[in-house]
Amino acid sequence: MKALVLEAYNKLVYREDYPEPRLRTPEDVIVRIRASAICGSDVHGMDGSTGRRIPPIVMGHEAAGEIVETGSAVQGFKVGDRVTFDSTEYCGKCFHCRRGEVNLCDNRMVLGVSCADYRRDGSFAEYLVVPERILYHIPANLDFAAASLAEPTAVAAHAAAISPIAMGDSMAVIGSGLIGLLLIQILRAHSPGLILALDTDSERRAVALSAGASFALDPADPASPKRILELTEGRGVDRSFEAVGATAPIATAIASTRKGGSVTLIGNVSPKVELPLQSVVTRQISLFGSCAMAGEYPLVLSLLASGKIKSEFIISAKAPLSQGAEWFARLYAREKGLLKVVLEP
Ligand SMILES: [Zn+2]
Ligand SMILES: [Zn+2]
Repeated sequence: MKALVLEAYNKLVYREDYPEPRLRTPEDVIVRIRASAICGSDVHGMDGSTGRRIPPIVMGHEAAGEIVETGSAVQGFKVGDRVTFDSTEYCGKCFHCRRGEVNLCDNRMVLGVSCADYRRDGSFAEYLVVPERILYHIPANLDFAAASLAEPTAVAAHAAAISPIAMGDSMAVIGSGLIGLLLIQILRAHSPGLILALDTDSERRAVALSAGASFALDPADPASPKRILELTEGRGVDRSFEAVGATAPIATAIASTRKGGSVTLIGNVSPKVELPLQSVVTRQISLFGSCAMAGEYPLVLSLLASGKIKSEFIISAKAPLSQGAEWFARLYAREKGLLKVVLEP
């Protein structure tokens, strides 16, 4: 089959002779992939810096397609169904899975990842094998490319879901990259309140405003902290979300939050950051770490299908899988204005 294979670090090769996956258990299905979006973790991972894309590997974990084969025990899906799936193959049996915390599964394998513990081919290929338990039906009016956004949208939705948000809360989203923009749209779909976007890039601030932010501020502007206080009756926002994962934006998130408020951390680019400890402790700020998603797919698929989350803000280009290596190179070079690129095998 056709597949985009990371054969060595920074060496992506489009092949037409890659072995097709087979059903491993009676609960498996084979999905013919129709759209597979490139994730930042694939782009950063392909140079070896994260240790989670050890070649050879077919990357890709944000995808949609149609079922072409089902195992004998599959009950809720049939050949021809249009589906998307969780980016994590969780076991369904461990302590965490049984509590519904499938993102914390003891035996989790992320699709398209190879690390010290496991190697699991992903969706930059014609076919992918996945178990029924991670599948979701795609609403009829949602195309495959938009459906491939369900995964990153669910990442953003999970951060909102684990945060103690009350109706009318004021919120700040630090970082208007992909996850930040999706999160602004999710928060806006659920709250009429103040949503501040903070990003140092003026173009991204403009997109954040079209995505539904009430105001977009530059965290590097010395006037911004005062402006945040003005907009929040002198207190700071109730909830803030950090979607970058570095010292400066985390400090911005903490400084923008009121006493007794909360900061939810989504970005994880840096393994370590400096924390303004006294500001967190003396102002009693709650910090939450948010990992992947746990059951947010039905919510985000309905938000995408109803247009409350607009894929136009997010998808910068669609291209055939055969051009994958070029698009990876452009994303790796941080070409301005490129958010999500969707490959179509
Ligand atoms: Zn991803
Ligand atoms: Zn598990």
